[in-house]
Amino acid sequence: MKKLIAGNWKMNGALAANEALLRSLITGLSGVAPAADMAVCVPAPYLAQVQSLLSGTPVAWGAQDVSAHEQGAYTGEVSGAMLKDFACRYAIVGHSERRQFHGETDALVAAKAQRALGLGITPIVCVGETLAEREAGDTEQVVKRQLAAVIHAVAHCTSEIVLAYEPVWAIGTGKTATPEQAQHVHAVLRKQLSAATQHPERVHILYGGSMNATNAASLLAQPDIDGGLIGGASLKADDFLRIVAASPAV
Ligand code: PEP
Repeated sequence: MKKLIAGNWKMNGALAANEALLRSLITGLSGVAPAADMAVCVPAPYLAQVQSLLSGTPVAWGAQDVSAHEQGAYTGEVSGAMLKDFACRYAIVGHSERRQFHGETDALVAAKAQRALGLGITPIVCVGETLAEREAGDTEQVVKRQLAAVIHAVAHCTSEIVLAYEPVWAIGTGKTATPEQAQHVHAVLRKQLSAATQHPERVHILYGGSMNATNAASLLAQPDIDGGLIGGASLKADDFLRIVAASPAV
């Protein structure tokens, strides 16, 4: 399976900076057959800009969240239908920053994944343990619980999600899971997926957590690491392109 390298810009960006970043990405990709599929998940106000700059390029785009509600009196929320208006292919759901700082529960994350799938948007479902959970030996239990909620909600559509294993202690900290640590959890998740879908191998399981141009190759070489969800390094075109180039050929 071709790897998927997805950028998560988080709450970063500005019109001029976005344009410079995306133009550098496009220039860097011209004349090369990209080694991986690519996407950028951007703040909602920039979706129109990103759509206009990336249409017709190999880089897809998406949002960083989607409302679990269809429409109506939910001030500040952005609906899946609105994301569709800007041709989003992806929406991140359950990023640990939303779970931590916005109180998102497994059930809410599952409802968001279900809403996205219903609109033809691929949810990038994030799971991952905190440092305290890892140190208590609870890593597998935590990620399995987070994934189980989504499987329960989306049922036969499970093979259509993208899953991202993002150990919370590795996000934005410069501490990366070792390829072996990440592979171990990815294999656990793949096994869990196999009970829910006949084709667990079709689900991209991305690794996220301080992936960068230097450590990407060894992570992406693992059999169950199907790509990366890239925070900080997705804000620099050169770093992002080097991660894409580090993807093994299929
Ligand atoms: C992320 O935000 O999903 C992420 C993995 O961030 P970083 O690459 O900066 O650790």
